[in-house]
Amino acid sequence: MNIDSIRKDFPILSREVYGKPLIYLDNAATVQKPRCVVDAISEEYFSVNANVHRGVHFLSQQATEFHESARDTVRRFINAASTSEVVFTRGTTESINLVAGSFGEAFLKAGDEVLISVMEHHSNIVPWQLLRDRKDIVIKVIPMTDAGEIDMEAYESMFTERTRLVCVTHVSNVLGTINPVKELSEIAHAHGAYILVDAAQSAPHMQIDVQDIGCDFLAFSGHKMYGPTGIGVLFGKEQLLDAMPPYQGGGEMIARVSFEKTTYERLPYKFEAGTPDFVGTHALAVAIDYLNGIGMDNIARHEHALTSYAMEQMRGIEGIKLYGTAPAKDAVVAFNVGNIHHLDLGTLLDRLGIAIRTGHHCAQPLMQRCGVEGMARASFALYTTQDEIDALVSGIRRVASMF
Ligand code: PMP
Repeated sequence: MNIDSIRKDFPILSREVYGKPLIYLDNAATVQKPRCVVDAISEEYFSVNANVHRGVHFLSQQATEFHESARDTVRRFINAASTSEVVFTRGTTESINLVAGSFGEAFLKAGDEVLISVMEHHSNIVPWQLLRDRKDIVIKVIPMTDAGEIDMEAYESMFTERTRLVCVTHVSNVLGTINPVKELSEIAHAHGAYILVDAAQSAPHMQIDVQDIGCDFLAFSGHKMYGPTGIGVLFGKEQLLDAMPPYQGGGEMIARVSFEKTTYERLPYKFEAGTPDFVGTHALAVAIDYLNGIGMDNIARHEHALTSYAMEQMRGIEGIKLYGTAPAKDAVVAFNVGNIHHLDLGTLLDRLGIAIRTGHHCAQPLMQRCGVEGMARASFALYTTQDEIDALVSGIRRVASMF
């Protein structure tokens, strides 16, 4: 990987903040976009824009071709068996809400159990709580070890004959832990439960193969993987999606409507009510092509080396507490330093041009598990350099010396 040339693809990386070169280490929140993705958006609006499906005219057919070939690009990216299994949504959050709203509403009954892990993002907690309020399901929380790994023994022991669904993140957005989703899947299936994998933090960083993982559902967001905001994906196994009722009603998702009775479109359109973000889907496919051009294995290797380097360097900072020390760890380092408030740490680093995230990272139960209100978090992308990590480490040292 030639990082210098890759960085030239991202115009924002050469800007300055407060007169200092930008060091962008908030990639777990959202990543910067390569020029090809932004160009694809403006090119489509300027030269192809027309509503998709059903249009007889040239532009509509061309826009439909872009949109549907994007679906196939996503299918290949995650190795789904069919494009019927690729539903476009607004992002991970909507994908999970879709499963809670449709699968949950149709197939879960009072007393049925959903297992979620203690390290979930709020978007993989709250939809299940909303369902609990509606249907009286039971949410059980899978604990983790102090290193930030799912406690596998506890996980296995939590299944009962009422366990229907497991919802776990592939990579923690705080700890960076890479969870053994294939093993988690096998165990869930051995107990007759389904499994949903939140891949928001894994899709940008590693090769995903839904057939190898064996998951029933998998969700991710375009904006975290170099695509635009507002587009995301839900993968679902075809026979499950087929059995599930629609999530929202409107145009695009119907076969035939009368006031007496409406029938629904085939998959995946049954779950895509309304005009889709067809520009977003095309731009997402351009982002995937960009990632494939670099190679997911190369990206994973580069980011893994960076993460190990960052952990090693940061361990040397006096008074630092690092959260998430599992060996299988990806592109995220969360920390606190002495008694310095994480918000002060973030604000002062910002003045040095270093953008990190502070707070609870949409994972308040995980903060409670770690005994803190919040943390500082630096997160990496394919364009992150070792020099930027050195700047972060010396920035933290400088800030710490002010207190
Ligand atoms: N899950 C995880 C692990 C995340 O990191 C995020 C985003 N921070 C989400 C879900 C939600 O993604 P989005 O806001 O794009 O829907």
